[in-house]
Amino acid sequence: KELVFSGVQPTGNLHLGNYLGAIKRFVAMQAQFECLYCVVDLHAITVWQDPGELTRQIREVTAAFLAAGIDPARSVVFNQSQVPQHAELAWIFNCVARLGWLNRMTQFKEKAGKDRENASVGLYDYPVLMAADILAYRATHVPVGEDQKQHLELTRDIAQKFNNDFAGTIAEQGHGEAFFPLTEPLIGGPAARVMSLRDGTKKMSKSDPSDYSRINLTDDSDAIAQKVRKAKTDAEPLPSETAGLEKRPEADNLVGIFAALNDASREDVLREYGGAQFSAFKGALVDLAVAKLGPIGAEMKRLVADPGHIDAVLADGAARAEAIAAPNVAAVKDIVGFVRRR
Ligand code: ATP
Ligand code: MG
Repeated sequence: KELVFSGVQPTGNLHLGNYLGAIKRFVAMQAQFECLYCVVDLHAITVWQDPGELTRQIREVTAAFLAAGIDPARSVVFNQSQVPQHAELAWIFNCVARLGWLNRMTQFKEKAGKDRENASVGLYDYPVLMAADILAYRATHVPVGEDQKQHLELTRDIAQKFNNDFAGTIAEQGHGEAFFPLTEPLIGGPAARVMSLRDGTKKMSKSDPSDYSRINLTDDSDAIAQKVRKAKTDAEPLPSETAGLEKRPEADNLVGIFAALNDASREDVLREYGGAQFSAFKGALVDLAVAKLGPIGAEMKRLVADPGHIDAVLADGAARAEAIAAPNVAAVKDIVGFVRRR
């Protein structure tokens, strides 16, 4: 059975990369798949979060999901810490994953920085928890940005090793040849990797200290206009073909953002704006971004003003999520050989 799972961390400053690379695509998948969309608060605390701020951010990401068009009656919207099977399966996967696999994860190296001795153990273990998030539901498809590709490969490695290590009990207990699917990442579109507005070689990120590096979903039209106008560019006009975007990371990024916002391709955008100066193109980009993001930001503000409603959505989602994850994780424990409470 096809099932989509994906998550967003409640770590503040939801930005255009999160929207175009993830949330906007979550909305589109609802037409085709059964979907679970998770606010991954257990992941958030792999770096320090102020408790009050964390609570606020969990509700804000939920509001962003709803404001962007995720329908909580159709899709399962919940926060990770309400469903205990995520952490439980992560422990079992800690005993399946190999140190060598985690040592190769580039996100840990980037996030831990130079002071690696002082990074939390959770930050190192992040990809294993992510595998548990996905496989607790035996999800078949995961829409994510390009930056999560390596973690999805690790998820497949864990699924495969579990299927191999326990092939005997998996078959004996009636699950056939494999218990876990080899989950497919769905990465793509013109905004699979939205870059910083200040540096076309760095991904747009919540944690970038410069607010001018990103457009936040809650930015008003003045802020969006200022940030786009100040965005770094080169001096040449836009090329008329995509080949002309090679080695021009800032131009490529702005064209990709325009295309994704407009449900078009880079080719379409260059057909219209090839030869244009950045001043003109940026003006059009501001108008488009304000038209698409303005209503989402306004709806987010309306929704966060009623935390009771958001918390009810999360509670309903958690109950539905647990109804899928609990039998899966119970079966995993049987496969491993634990004794159930009887
Ligand atoms: P952090 O810096 O805290 O990791 P983040 O911006 O990477 O924050 P996440 O919550 O880790 O946000 O990621 C949520 C989703 O957004 C993931 O699917 C991720 O791949 C996607 N995403 C994040 N940044 C970008 C980006 N710059 N372009 C496209 N997709 C992105
Ligand atoms: Mg991230």
